[in-house]
Amino acid sequence: MADAAAPARRLKPPVGEGVAAAPVKLSAPVQAMRRLGLLRDIDLALHLPLRYEDETRLQPIGTLRDGEAGQVEGLVVDCRVEQRSRRQLLVRLQDDSGELLLRFLHFYPSNQKQMAVGQRLRVRGEARAGFFGREMVHPVVKGVAEGAPLPAALTPVYPSSAQLPQAYLRKAVVSALGRAPLAEVLPPDAPPAGMPSLREALQLLHHPPPGTPLAALEDRSHPAWQRLKWEELLAQQLSQLQAQAGRARLRAPALAPRAGGLRDRLLGVLPFALTAAQRRVVAEIAADLARAQPMNRLLQGDVGSGKTVVAALSAAAAIDAGWQCALMAPTEILAEQHFRKLVDWLQPQGITVAWLTGSRKGKGRTQMLAQVASGEAMLVVGTHAVIQHDVAFHRLGLAIVDEQHRFGVAQRLALRQKLEAQAPGAGPPQARHTPLGGDPRERGAGGSHFEPHLLMMSATPIPRTLAMTYFADLDVSTIDELPPGRTPVLTKVFADTRRSDVVQRIREEVARGRQVYWVCPLVEESEHLDLQNATATHAELGAALPGAMVGLLHGRMPAAEKAAVMSLFTQGQMQVLVATTVIEVGVDVPNASLMVIEHAERFGLAQLHQLRGRVGRGAVASVCVLLYTTPLSDTGKARLKAMAETTDGFEIARRDLDIRGPGEFLGARQSGDALLRFADLAKDDQLLQHARALAPRLLAGHPAAAQAQVERWLAGRSEFLKA
Ligand code: ADP
Ligand code: MG
Repeated sequence: MADAAAPARRLKPPVGEGVAAAPVKLSAPVQAMRRLGLLRDIDLALHLPLRYEDETRLQPIGTLRDGEAGQVEGLVVDCRVEQRSRRQLLVRLQDDSGELLLRFLHFYPSNQKQMAVGQRLRVRGEARAGFFGREMVHPVVKGVAEGAPLPAALTPVYPSSAQLPQAYLRKAVVSALGRAPLAEVLPPDAPPAGMPSLREALQLLHHPPPGTPLAALEDRSHPAWQRLKWEELLAQQLSQLQAQAGRARLRAPALAPRAGGLRDRLLGVLPFALTAAQRRVVAEIAADLARAQPMNRLLQGDVGSGKTVVAALSAAAAIDAGWQCALMAPTEILAEQHFRKLVDWLQPQGITVAWLTGSRKGKGRTQMLAQVASGEAMLVVGTHAVIQHDVAFHRLGLAIVDEQHRFGVAQRLALRQKLEAQAPGAGPPQARHTPLGGDPRERGAGGSHFEPHLLMMSATPIPRTLAMTYFADLDVSTIDELPPGRTPVLTKVFADTRRSDVVQRIREEVARGRQVYWVCPLVEESEHLDLQNATATHAELGAALPGAMVGLLHGRMPAAEKAAVMSLFTQGQMQVLVATTVIEVGVDVPNASLMVIEHAERFGLAQLHQLRGRVGRGAVASVCVLLYTTPLSDTGKARLKAMAETTDGFEIARRDLDIRGPGEFLGARQSGDALLRFADLAKDDQLLQHARALAPRLLAGHPAAAQAQVERWLAGRSEFLKA
């Protein structure tokens, strides 16, 4: 039980800022440190340099070379302000070997005083050939006494902000390093051989002795870096094991379907037979639901693989057992589509389905909310925001989240907390959650409340290595087969210059009675441009296709208008739909056989795959045309090529990971704060394997050490890692 478990020590404010009376007014640098998250000594100790400057050596002025950086020391022999092309301060510095001109275009009177004739200066900067001989422009200057010692280590340069000078931060780090609780918390045989201790590693990374190979620091292969990464990976593996164990102690309603019950009746009225893969995942989910422990399962299956019906059958199991089910979708369009389908399937079985979205207001909404609260509505379909924030359930037994990949870690965490608060018998959520350490949910374990089961669905598969690392506390079911009778979508990549050929193709498709999507990109910086693009294309196609109805759908339309356009297209009256990416997820119109994606190079691969999945939903042979604008980068080419070569979502995810790397693959929204700070999954596989193997043994043999490790590294972030 080492010092890691001691309460976090706050940084003392600088002298003169008394600590007694609150509120204390903090100095600008202290505030800036807070904004950077540098609150505790350990935070500063882990705030590693971006790079280093070598001030450990002096060279004679005569040996400076143009274009190279160097540090020299000499006496000022001249200091004057001159008006040349502009006012400037010119200082002549001399040592035994030569003379150097220092030139300052911005300066204060204090600079003139510091560099007055006769002063001894240590100067560091890049030398260059000037009109009056060798010079340095705006070098770093320090007044020194003769024989002043040189620093013994390289000088760290930290990530910082304008209000936080490097010198201040350096001092803060030095004292924090002295105080920070860095004693070893792990048994001595835990770390891989050849690594320094954590304290040694941090000492070296902040203040590398002269001669330390800078390249090994930069590419993070130095043993000191390895130690840090390994520590972090170990903490993360431990935290996931703890989360798993914590969940195993929770209770959920056991939802076993009855023979001849709602689920069987629903199976009987479906217009198709389930695929073998669907049957398998339905069974996996049913087995989870029948247990008195909350399910935490991800259902992944390629676009069009038939996840909705699996969701419906799972909902039926919950309802059959007398518990409510909530189905959440990321957009209103998708929520409405789910709603219609589920009403079709379940209403005839006597089930009331409620539909809740943000745009549904007034009396109808109040009524629905009442039906949900009383338990009359057993199934609630809606957008996440609405279900998460506005709805009180009678007895929520199962929550299903569609298109889970669209949600970040923070959102999943919020959902989990909301679900726990919804659980019958649960106290107010604040009382049941503490931000740090341990697993607050454990406290409820002996109590009488139930957690709902959670099923997440995604068409963007998580690659296995990421699943192991980030989502270890997640069970995964995979639909690896498409329903029969689908003809794979043929993908063609064209330069934008072939637009008129594409329009001709649309004409032919429409003449055959088929429908067409035309997707315009989302220009993230400007919603306005985005709209212009879609509106212009809408007008262009309307003019080019006189006999056809061409509709427009974009994110900023009022929901009612969106719904009207969507229903014209779904029912086949509208032949061509020009849309921004609002149609990305879930929309299901089997008669649509051609999709054109404009500026395809601007989309992510996963998104292109989702979009393409809107066609090829029926038996008709379908085509997806990717239009790009030249010039196209090499990465851009590689990505579009991948799209043309495969329609397998898993393969596309793999290639995406190859092209972009895991950090970007997860994306900012997915990763939140949870991404590893030091380790890199693409490079640190060996360290990860070591940590994975060690974590269960450590947890079993040294639980206190394991706990200290998690707290030291993850503190407030562990909640995110288990979401
Ligand atoms: P996704 O997995 O992308 O959400 P959907 O659930 O929207 O896919 O299903 C795509 C289409 O396939 C829908 O029209 C659905 O009714 C149909 N479908 C689902 N399962 C089968 C099946 N076993 N046989 C035939 N069609 C199916
Ligand atoms: Mg879907």
